[in-house]
Amino acid sequence: MTQEELFKKLVAHAKEYGFVFQSSEIYDGLSAVYDYGQNGIEMKNNIRRYWWEAMTRLNDNIVGIDAAIFMHPKTWVASGHVGAFNDPLIDNKDSKKRYRADVLIEDWIQKQEDKINKEVEKAKKRFGDTFDEAMFRETNPRVLEVAEKIKTINTRMVSSLDSGDLKEVKQIIEDCEIVCPISGSRNWTEVRQFNLMFETKMGSVSEDADTIYLRPETAQGIFVNYLNVQKTGRMKIPFGIAQTGKAFRNEIVARQFIFRMREFEQMEMQFFVRPGEEMEWYEYWKEKRMRWHKSMGLGDNKYRFHKHEKLAHYANAASDIEFEFPFGFKEVEGIHSRTDFDLSSHQKHSGKKLQYFDPETNESYVPYVIETSIGLDRTFLLILSSAYTEEKITKEDGTVDERVVLRIPPALAPIKLGVFPLVKKDGLPEKAKMIMDELKIDFACQYEEKDTIGKRYRRHDAIGTPFCITVDHQTLEDDTVTIRYRDTMAQERVQASRLREIMEEKVSLRTLLKQL
Ligand code: ATP
Repeated sequence: MTQEELFKKLVAHAKEYGFVFQSSEIYDGLSAVYDYGQNGIEMKNNIRRYWWEAMTRLNDNIVGIDAAIFMHPKTWVASGHVGAFNDPLIDNKDSKKRYRADVLIEDWIQKQEDKINKEVEKAKKRFGDTFDEAMFRETNPRVLEVAEKIKTINTRMVSSLDSGDLKEVKQIIEDCEIVCPISGSRNWTEVRQFNLMFETKMGSVSEDADTIYLRPETAQGIFVNYLNVQKTGRMKIPFGIAQTGKAFRNEIVARQFIFRMREFEQMEMQFFVRPGEEMEWYEYWKEKRMRWHKSMGLGDNKYRFHKHEKLAHYANAASDIEFEFPFGFKEVEGIHSRTDFDLSSHQKHSGKKLQYFDPETNESYVPYVIETSIGLDRTFLLILSSAYTEEKITKEDGTVDERVVLRIPPALAPIKLGVFPLVKKDGLPEKAKMIMDELKIDFACQYEEKDTIGKRYRRHDAIGTPFCITVDHQTLEDDTVTIRYRDTMAQERVQASRLREIMEEKVSLRTLLKQL
């Protein structure tokens, strides 16, 4: 199965099992907007809680807030979003499709890199054990030629985007002979800037400022509350403020399911530090955030850092944590050293002092900020895509069965325990419900009595339930139940009274938090 096929299956599975639905589907959907279903929301809440507890509870100098989505319009002038939160877009006149000009160029660069990798693979096969890859990359004329081309185009792209020279961006597309993937033609419009913020009207704001924006990031809600939290919480630098919430971007090219949406959720933390100490903290948070990701056990080799060459207007250093999705390595979290750009700018635009008096140095200053910004939906997608597994199982009688199992980290699974009576009579349903009543206070449980036990197991495999228990006639005699494990499919008999303890050890967030 190709990765593309796998991804298609995953999207279908997410819908069939109540994880993610297209928004307003009965009206043919709204592009790049999605709803979470009954299982999706449970998993999303678990991920959010894992992030929240890791940030606020495990760090005694980080507290949380929940700022409003609507903010005073001046916020977005100060943050630079009104002036600079643009994507360069270009249309193909034949297919009428719209693209991000920088993404077209980046895709072209990727293709050139693939060419180099192919040359390397060919040579590897030809030379066998004696092959020196580093030497080959440094000396092979064909590789060097392509690498030089990539370097030139990359430099031109970064500098034209930085200076806003859209004519040059178009020229690069022409020089690289980039064609529209749909029409195959090079019949392009000029490149234009497109602001990604959604606008709306608010009646009560004064007339000259009645246009307000749906926030494109949660961070600004933290910056404008910096002093409120610092003063009321008596916070001492270094300290952090965490927040989760919706953000909105009018993405030009929205694709890959919930990877790029127009309404999505971010989990952000701004860490306020002494000027000059930001690089130390930047490294600290890079390492700490990577540990959080790896703790989920999805495979250490699936993550990598990607250092930004082209920095945003507010940053003096930035890296992404990328994950290997079925469609390649892509950003899931950004760690940015944002300098004092935001606080200084809000200070200037609001006329309010946003400084910190440092009792250790006896100085007042505008703090510097390290930001960690992760997409909740992208984290959801990466967990789902690495959890999705199709398995063939040879049964005792030699026949082969198939199952789809979501190997979701147990602490993040939507349902922790399936509770089944073997049959719908003889007092077994009542007994099963009694056991469940005891456990549902601590764990998300689901009762099921329809169909064979085998079918019920499969349904729970498909939503990633780590444990299922079956209550049978023996339970009525000795209070034992069969517990069945999702990953190994092994079954064992245990005392019903021990279930809480068995589950606690495997499914509570403790299992993840302990590793941080
Ligand atoms: P990209 O380059 O993919 O557009 P970005 O660099 O603009 O992302 P940031 O502004 O750093 O993203 O936002 C932080 C995080 O928010 C991202 O790492 C991503 O996980 C998430 N995010 C950003 N835009 C979207 C979106 N349109 N849909 C879903 N998640 C998003």
